[in-house]
Amino acid sequence: MHLAERVGRIQPSLTLELAAKASAMLKAGEPVINLTVGEPDFPTPRHVRQAAFEAMEKGYTKYTASAGILELRKAVATMLNTKWGTSYEPSQIVIGSGAKETLANAILATCQAGDEVIIPAPYWLSYPEMVRLAHATPVIIPLRAEDGFKLTPRILEQAITPRTRMVIINSPSNPTGVAYDGEELQALVSVLAERHVWVLSDEIYSRLVYDGRPHYSLASYEAIRDRLILIDGWSKAYAMTGWRVGFMAAPPQVASAVVRLQSHTTSHPCSISQWAALAALTGPEDDVVAMVKEFERRRNMAYERLLAIPDLPCRKPEGAFYLFADARAYLHCGWQGTPIATSLRLCEYLLESQRLALVPGSVFGAEGFLRLSYAARYDRVAEGLDRLKAGLRALRGESS
Ligand code: PLP
Repeated sequence: MHLAERVGRIQPSLTLELAAKASAMLKAGEPVINLTVGEPDFPTPRHVRQAAFEAMEKGYTKYTASAGILELRKAVATMLNTKWGTSYEPSQIVIGSGAKETLANAILATCQAGDEVIIPAPYWLSYPEMVRLAHATPVIIPLRAEDGFKLTPRILEQAITPRTRMVIINSPSNPTGVAYDGEELQALVSVLAERHVWVLSDEIYSRLVYDGRPHYSLASYEAIRDRLILIDGWSKAYAMTGWRVGFMAAPPQVASAVVRLQSHTTSHPCSISQWAALAALTGPEDDVVAMVKEFERRRNMAYERLLAIPDLPCRKPEGAFYLFADARAYLHCGWQGTPIATSLRLCEYLLESQRLALVPGSVFGAEGFLRLSYAARYDRVAEGLDRLKAGLRALRGESS
């Protein structure tokens, strides 16, 4: 018996594997600091949980429309239209089981064998795998830390070929925390508007931007709206990772193709989660505001501590909840008789010697970097940074 060729094309999620290893060590009583996971450590807001109870009590426990409940699609359309001056109809909104499912379905609905999909690196690790699942080819465009990890019109223009079917843009970004401003997006839009390509804009971290800056969305650019597939959701903004709800706003033909796909796979996201998501979107925002403030406090502390580590440059992130540090200066150091040649090996070293779990940059297409999530408790992030400093010092044979 054999497995389908398509599963051989894709890699398992390494971040989940590393997180699992760290949690197994924690369970075994080891004092691990786990800064791998991209998941807020806050509870889902009380009124959202309450709405879920009420939904169950009201009997909203049955199948829903494949695109999601109309009330939620209307609320998403209204939110987007108010924020970005769009005119989305509820029929252009699809509710999926997390942003992840809507991303995968968007790619499956638009890309096929022979198509190229442009993915700027560092990238969220599922994009290339989703593209491969669709039998299309991921075209990775490496962005340099020295250039702020940003796509420029020139780089984008050079990357687009007649085979390009889609360009993926993720702002704020996982893993770098980079967020484009309006001018930078406008410059990219001027290139995209001239080309016949789908634009997949993953804005799952849209609510997590700091220093009082606004989020800039590709939805606000009329010139590409007939090609734009906008993805966002509830996981990160409302601490709702386990509820599995996300949404897509797309041109009508894409939205209906995705609904068709979804209707034969997952049908729709959990009915109770959809009612909870509606309460999140239309209810008080105090919890979100407080959470963002706390993330900003952690980012400031973590960033300051990182800066104090020699030869570990890091760009100050504008959004999301990650720091992406350049550890290339440490890759030549020896451990257990051999040089640490990769970021994965460096993460193994930090886990074994410091009980600190981080994610290697290689899984995001940026070898030599380390991703540190500050979506963990303030004191744990602080302790993690201390361990990182101690681990890197020890690697160079310096005592801490
Ligand atoms: N997009 C990016 C960039 C992410 O980092 C994640 C989760 O880590 C997702 C999408 C998936 O989000 P969800 O939990 O809503 O499926």
